Amino acid sequence: MQSSAKKQFKKGETLIREGERGECAYVIEAGNVEILVQRDGQAIQIGVRGPGSLIGEMAMIDDKPRTATVRAVEDCDVIEITREDFGRRVESADPVLKMVLRVLTTRYRDMLGRTETIRFVPSTTAEAVENSEAFHDIALSTIKIHNELKVALQRGELTLFYQPIIDVQNMKIAGFEALMRWKHPQKGMISPGIFIPVAEESGLILELSRFALDVACDATKELQKAASPALVVPEPLFVGVNFSVKDFMGGNLFTHMRDTLAKKGVAAQQIHLEITETLLMEAPEAAKAELEKCREIGLNVSIDDFGSGYSSLSYLHYFPIDTLKIDQSFIRSMTTHPNSLVLVKSIIGLARNLGMKVIAEGIETVKEAGILYTLGCDYIQGYWFSKPLPFDDAMKFVKNWQPPKLEIDNNSVNTNT
Ligand code: C2E
Ligand code: CA
Ligand code: CA
Repeated sequence: MQSSAKKQFKKGETLIREGERGECAYVIEAGNVEILVQRDGQAIQIGVRGPGSLIGEMAMIDDKPRTATVRAVEDCDVIEITREDFGRRVESADPVLKMVLRVLTTRYRDMLGRTETIRFVPSTTAEAVENSEAFHDIALSTIKIHNELKVALQRGELTLFYQPIIDVQNMKIAGFEALMRWKHPQKGMISPGIFIPVAEESGLILELSRFALDVACDATKELQKAASPALVVPEPLFVGVNFSVKDFMGGNLFTHMRDTLAKKGVAAQQIHLEITETLLMEAPEAAKAELEKCREIGLNVSIDDFGSGYSSLSYLHYFPIDTLKIDQSFIRSMTTHPNSLVLVKSIIGLARNLGMKVIAEGIETVKEAGILYTLGCDYIQGYWFSKPLPFDDAMKFVKNWQPPKLEIDNNSVNTNT
């Protein structure tokens, strides 16, 4: 098993080569290295690093090709940290440290992803990101996304897709989740993972949420009207709308929701307010007050990505909650990791005891669906039967859906091994 090791590089030797897959990072102990990127067939030096610097750190997060070459400009001593060693250290770290690391690496990756995916600025290099120029580029790209997003909202480039949610116990359509998309005229379809965090940071999320609620209400009515009675559950269809913690801070989310429902003529029971547990914990008092008012008029409160946060279960009593949406990561590992199966089983049991419903997200296989059926889960959502659909396709879905067959294997839920 490999672990951190000291290494030496002679002047002119290459530590990291652009385009190759990265397996390790280096901490420079002595000597200097230069960072080079290829531009128009020429190697351009974009920085120099000396003792104490960390280079090639993206290899700790993923195995994408290196985006720069690093060469020793003099004899160097370095400590090599392999991804395997890093992973092992993280696994054995204190849980709080582990969580902080996970959050930081995810944010770092998102930040780079945003810059690279959108390409509002010339591509920056992962290795160069620690230099202030690259950070400046990222900040600039965030501002550009914000400005373009504002215009996009006015120009009607934002739209909602609808992913069906199925009552797994009878395989009938129970509702949909509304997921935002940005149809960018030049860059094509941009995922909410890119622009929602920017909207949250800049405050534009308030307008986006209002837009989503408006459009989702219209869609709810249309989908309900078009639904073939034999394919849907007897209760009215519901549509889940995602909200962010900022929506709860202003103190007028409730009034806006109540007025919108009245204006659109949609029953409150048909709208599920989706909010993640991590967001709830950021502003618990404000969220509780608004959620209680929303719930009083019949809106359904769903906890999104349940289990992925790092909060205490006691909040399940603190907040008014109707539905738990089990995080996709548990579903993904349920068939390979017995502990995940135990967790899914426990969440379903917990919800039942607390009088809540459960939606399992990210169902991709018939096996996962069969397990959730056997565990008594209420609803499932996932690529196994449908990706998020444009509105017209969602309309076809409620008219023509043909439920795939479940495969039930009672042994697959046996966790007493
Ligand atoms: P989320 O609320 O957890 O939504 C579920 C995400 O999982 C969606 O990604 C969906 O397309 C994806 N998904 C569903 N089934 C499967 C599956 O079987 N396999 C896999 N691999 N993925 C599946 P999407 O649409 O890219 O949305 C990402 C996130 O962006 C959402 O996560 C939500 O947090 C946020 N988001 C989307 N629309 C809105 C919105 O209108 N407002 C706010 N505040 N956030 C939104
Ligand atoms: Ca959601
Ligand atoms: Ca989710």
